[in-house]
Order: sequence, then structure tokens, then C-alpha cells
Amino acid sequence: MTVLIALAAVLGLVIGSFLNVVIYRLPDKQSLSQPGSHCMSCGHRLAWWENIPLLSWLALRGRCRSCGTRISVQYPAVEALTAVLFGVAAYTVGQPIVEATDPAQIIAAVAVLLAALWFIAAAIALAAIDLRTKLLPNRIIYPSIVVIAVLETVAAMFSGAWGNLLTVVLGLVTIGGLYLLVAFISPRGMGLGDVKYAALIGLTLGWHGWGMTVTGIILPFLIGAVVAIVLLLARRAGRKTGIPFGPSMSLGATITLLWGKPLLTWYLALWGLA
Ligand SMILES: [Zn+2]
Repeated sequence: MTVLIALAAVLGLVIGSFLNVVIYRLPDKQSLSQPGSHCMSCGHRLAWWENIPLLSWLALRGRCRSCGTRISVQYPAVEALTAVLFGVAAYTVGQPIVEATDPAQIIAAVAVLLAALWFIAAAIALAAIDLRTKLLPNRIIYPSIVVIAVLETVAAMFSGAWGNLLTVVLGLVTIGGLYLLVAFISPRGMGLGDVKYAALIGLTLGWHGWGMTVTGIILPFLIGAVVAIVLLLARRAGRKTGIPFGPSMSLGATITLLWGKPLLTWYLALWGLA
């Protein structure tokens, strides 16, 4: 288990570093590979040792080696966040990998974990891009839907859990449909990007059952309401300010994916239902 968590965390650092590139370049339709990593201020090309996730930022004390301009704390923050969430996912979602007894079960469990990791990476990128640009790019959502659907199909093939694919489809239709309804009633409060993102969330959480799917519906709205109230009280937003909903969706869905089961058990126990 420890090895799995460590592997996932290191993978998270590398993916987090790539997410920084996605967050800054994808909304402007820039190439993700060309030019290579460089200082935003002076254009100084980063040597390989200046481009190591987290460590380089710490070693350079958050400044460009060439011109001394501050490098945004967002870079190491995204890398650290991705690494931590990947590690937690390995521990919670990845549990069946350790418990599996035959190769087919292991392949299925790995596919489920990879789907979760892909979703977490997409959720981080979407939240950051929505905050910056108020958009949820199709170029992240569409490929994510395809990749996660394929991984879940592989998991069903190797585990025989075909029933899970049914809740996947129902999850996608339920959450996507609900957001579509909200967008239809309140077009200024919710955009089509939110609807497509909701479908992706339903697709991901559906594999883990109805409890997770329902939690994945409630949590983003709960978080969104808290965020709106806090911003209103802090007078950072008026009643007509459009607050991007993507970050609340990412936070709610990721919490559900990683801690949904204990959260649901606790909640039901609170009402004497379990
Ligand atoms: Zn520079």
C-alpha cells in the first residue's frame, strides 16, 4: 500500500507540473509542448534542473534565476495539491488493488484507480481555468469523458461488474440532466460548460454507486452556496456577480470521490438511517 501511495504521489507531482502548463496555455489555444518551459517575464528557458516539480521552486526560492521575477506560488501549489490528492486516491480508491487475488481483479482495480486519477487531474485544471477565464474548455471535458468511459469499460470487462456500467450511464444522465434543467431555468447562473462537466462527474462517480452519485449532486451546490454567502458577506461579490461554479463542482466531486463513502455513512448515521 505504501509503495502504491508513494508511486501515485510522485506521478501526481509530474502530472501537476503538466497541469500548470495546461492551466496557462490551453485557454489561449497555445501549444502545450512548444515552446518549452520558460520564464513568463524574460523568456529565460528553464534548464532541466529548474523544471523539477516542487523542488525547483523551493531551490530557486520562487524567483526566476535569470531576471529575478517572482514565480507564482500557483505552480508549486498545483503540483503539491495533485500529489496529495493522487496519494489519497491510491489509499482510498486504490484499496481493491492491494486486496485483489487474481490478475484480472488487479487490472480492473488499476483501471478504476486510473479513472479516478484522471478525473482529479481534470478537476484541478477545470477549477483553475474556470477561476481565470470563467470557461470550462471542451478540450479537457471531451477527452476526459472518452478516457474515463474506456477505463470503466476495461474495469467491467476484467471484473465482470457490468452492473456498474449501468449506474455509470444513469449517473451521467441524472447529474448531466439535472444541471441541464438548472441551466434551462437560470441560463445566467449556469452555462453549458457546467452541464458537460456535470456529465463527466456523473460518469466518474456512477461507477462507485448511487450513494456517491447523490453525494456528488448535493456537495457542489452546498459548497457553491457557502462560497456565495462568504463572498456576499465579504462584499467581494454583488448579487448579480457571476461566480464561476466550476471550482465548487471540482471540490464537491473530488471530496465525494475520495471520501464519499465514510461521508455518506456518517451522514446517514446522523439521521439514524444507518
Ligand atoms: Zn525571468
